[in-house]
Amino acid sequence: MYLKCFEQRETGKHAASHAAATFSLVRTTFVTLLSGRQLLAAALVLGFCATASADDILFENVRVFDGKGDALSAPSNVLVKGNVIERISTDPIDAAGAERIAGNGRTLMPGLIDAHWHAMLIATTPAEAMSDIGFANLAAGDEATDTLMRGFTTVRDVGGPAFGLKRAIDRGIIEGPRIYPSGAMMTVTSGHGDFREPSDLPRRVGGLFTPMERTGGSIVVDSPDEVRLRAREQFMQGAVLLKVTAGGGVSSPHSPLDVTTFTLPELRAAVEIAENWGTYVAAHAFTPEAIEMAIEAGVKNIEHGFLMSEEDAKLIADKGIWLGLQPLHEAMRTNLPEGSVERAKADEVWPGIDRTYRLAKKYKINTTWGTDILFSRALATQQGAILASLSRWYTPAEALAMATGTNAELLALSGKRNPYPGKLGVVEEGALADLLLVEGNPLENLDLVADPANNFKIIMKDGKIYKNTVAK
Ligand SMILES: [Zn+2]
Repeated sequence: MYLKCFEQRETGKHAASHAAATFSLVRTTFVTLLSGRQLLAAALVLGFCATASADDILFENVRVFDGKGDALSAPSNVLVKGNVIERISTDPIDAAGAERIAGNGRTLMPGLIDAHWHAMLIATTPAEAMSDIGFANLAAGDEATDTLMRGFTTVRDVGGPAFGLKRAIDRGIIEGPRIYPSGAMMTVTSGHGDFREPSDLPRRVGGLFTPMERTGGSIVVDSPDEVRLRAREQFMQGAVLLKVTAGGGVSSPHSPLDVTTFTLPELRAAVEIAENWGTYVAAHAFTPEAIEMAIEAGVKNIEHGFLMSEEDAKLIADKGIWLGLQPLHEAMRTNLPEGSVERAKADEVWPGIDRTYRLAKKYKINTTWGTDILFSRALATQQGAILASLSRWYTPAEALAMATGTNAELLALSGKRNPYPGKLGVVEEGALADLLLVEGNPLENLDLVADPANNFKIIMKDGKIYKNTVAK
């Protein structure tokens, strides 16, 4: 009995069937060893554990934001059984043995999802990220715990060697969000994500990899064959989508914004391999040329798009492409040294943020939300504030739906590669229990999400409570 319960806690509730199998084995062993009164006592205890709801949690008197709608529910009760939302009702729920949490009219909403995150590239400098993967993993683990404590129960990692971090979190070794990893960003020579120096050139064909490539932050591909090889390597390590950089970017010094980096056959090769694996390609692209080539190649998700034309917006809407937008924090621009190449590129991109959000709204594009924070834990503390900054374009309900239900729809594009099958981003019966209990009503005051330390009273992921400051 003890072992069974212990096993369930240790392996995570999504591994319940494994736990049940272990339980049978343990039970058989117990029964063989015990007899008489001992057996009766053991049976009683076993029976109690099998039917007990000690792991179940009942939220009483909460008002639910379901991740989709524009209003809170009437005062309700929500029962979490294992890692799933079992029941939602305005009537009392009979849940003997469950842990009861007095909601006192607080808001219960889905855990937040950041759809453009780089879990391995926040708590280090670029040099550390490329030179010491051990340190990078430890630093990323610490940041992952902070990320979860900000109410982000899931992130989509679009570039970086996050596979080990993800495994450690899923095994319960450290606390952090669910991770949907792309593995290394795939770039071309001199493309966005190629952080080599000119002194590293010329690269000998078949020559050595640079530190950036060895650690898995990004990988240079210069032909369709190389794309296929590196794409398959990402999937072998556990990627659930592919990330390519179809045009220039701000933070890499050798990729002018106007350059269309990949060729059409190279992008098609990425799409081909992603689709062979039942998933999709996310393409970093700013300019019309990069966006249009990516869409022609079959890319289903454009990230950024801040220099797009109105025709591109129409194309994206017509084809049902997912557009990942980020209300980039102003400090990400002003932290770049004046006079630098990167600053000049940022100055060109930034006015496009407002323009693109307006286009996305005008054409009702499938729009997701993310932060794209890089190399700054100070900025990472602003993750919720960056979400709240969506109030420039959206109502609080629209912004929160984007960061929960809508972002989860994007995650589901990973199909059979989805590492966490089940419904995320919503509060409904049968969905995975990633939940926040919020002090106040975020549909009236979106800024509540900018101060998670004070306003998120409970943070639950996969049915397990990671933070609870509700007075007992
Ligand atoms: Zn990014």
